[in-house]
Amino acid sequence: MKVIKSINEINTFIANNKRENRLVGFVPTMGALHEGHLSLINEAANDTEIVVVSIFVNPLQFNVKTDFEKYPRNLESDLSILKNYEVDVVFAPSYDEIYNDYKIRAFNLDHINSILEGEHRPGHFNGVANVVYRLFSIVNPDKAYFGKKDYQQIYVIKKMIEETNLHVEIVECPIIREEDGLAMSSRNKLLGKQYREKVSIISKSLFHIREDFGNRSIEEWKKYVQNIFNEENLLQLEYFEFIDLENFTILKEKNDSKDVIACIAVHAGSVRLIDNININS
Ligand code: AMP
Repeated sequence: MKVIKSINEINTFIANNKRENRLVGFVPTMGALHEGHLSLINEAANDTEIVVVSIFVNPLQFNVKTDFEKYPRNLESDLSILKNYEVDVVFAPSYDEIYNDYKIRAFNLDHINSILEGEHRPGHFNGVANVVYRLFSIVNPDKAYFGKKDYQQIYVIKKMIEETNLHVEIVECPIIREEDGLAMSSRNKLLGKQYREKVSIISKSLFHIREDFGNRSIEEWKKYVQNIFNEENLLQLEYFEFIDLENFTILKEKNDSKDVIACIAVHAGSVRLIDNININS
């Protein structure tokens, strides 16, 4: 496993492998690796020949400065985890390497910026689209792997690809959870004990909604979730919505769509957690 920090070096490595017609799989991350990230890496290793993992905490996508500052970082421990996986290159560039010769673009994300994460984290998705565009341009992957934990992010990346005419296949990977159902996240490391004990209510609510979806209307489910968090003084609900994946819009009434997800964001003290579940699966 090579650790590469410079664009020149990774360009050479990729060009050499492309010349041999090797398929390149790419897993972009912000580090503080957990089993969610590792599942993406395993998928990449299963269907491509060269696996590149990037570790870069992208300041552009943090709309709250303290969130960026507190974001867990541990390159050494990430590298020692990655050694046990089929990873060919870890690309761990500095801020300057990524942004010094790059002009930040304004992507057309239309309604995405006014719902869910887009509404509550202004600028977040343009930051994500820019860093992924920049990384794709550097790594030039055939396939890139993203977790459905950040479903709206997958939609954003597909829009960015359309707009820029890049040729990268996006592979959507399932959400990996802790034993109690909590979706794995680097931010879980920041949860105090009293919060950690409470936050499984997030996924438990989603599982219940999936089981029982037919028995209540959209409005009734929204009230149901609101009530759960009204009674919960440590956790604050930021949003709960059903999304029709057909065009990633908020579902106001039930329809025949076969692809509906329920999305939630919750504040547990200073830590913000998101999760979602596919209602139809
Ligand atoms: P991050 O390091 O948080 O930017 O995440 C890097 C990639 O890992 C993104 O594609 C995430 O959607 C994915 N990811 C994060 N948590 C999980 C999880 N619990 N299950 C599956 N994928 C995940």
